Amino acid sequence: MISQNLHNAINAQVNAELWSAYLYLAMSLDAEAKGYKGVANWFYVQFQEEQAHARIFMNYLNSRDAKVELLPIEAVPSAWDSVQDMFRQTLEHEKKVTSLINNLAAIANEDRDYASINRIVWFIDEQVEEEESAREMIDAFDAVEGNKYGMYMLDKELATRVYNVPAPLATAE
Ligand code: MG
Repeated sequence: MISQNLHNAINAQVNAELWSAYLYLAMSLDAEAKGYKGVANWFYVQFQEEQAHARIFMNYLNSRDAKVELLPIEAVPSAWDSVQDMFRQTLEHEKKVTSLINNLAAIANEDRDYASINRIVWFIDEQVEEEESAREMIDAFDAVEGNKYGMYMLDKELATRVYNVPAPLATAE
């Protein structure tokens, strides 16, 4: 049995992942409105990934016979100062998510719940990638700042990002 404490924390994480999905969908829409189709695509892929993260946690709770309770999703902002600002806020947001994931690991560790630790480890690695990719995007936009052609080419490059089903879902479903 999964502890009530961990059950509640993972259930809250499902909500946090769905909120992240909602945040990135809002960024995608705002990027589109600003004329950055590539950035809009990048955030749309991010939106799909966050839904997958929620799904992985939901599948895990189901597999441990722990009921998923869907909680209300808080509103997200609808506009940002610039696309650069979106990536800076993405990094800040992902740092917060990392601390939430670390907290899940701490609870599972305290419970000596090795199956849960195993599941959470995938997310620990994922958060390293999430922070790294946000940092790379900030650097890329800093590199072309004030250069319209550079911005155009960077936006074109981001249009090529495609969604890949995360490993835990690719094998489970
Ligand atoms: Mg996530």
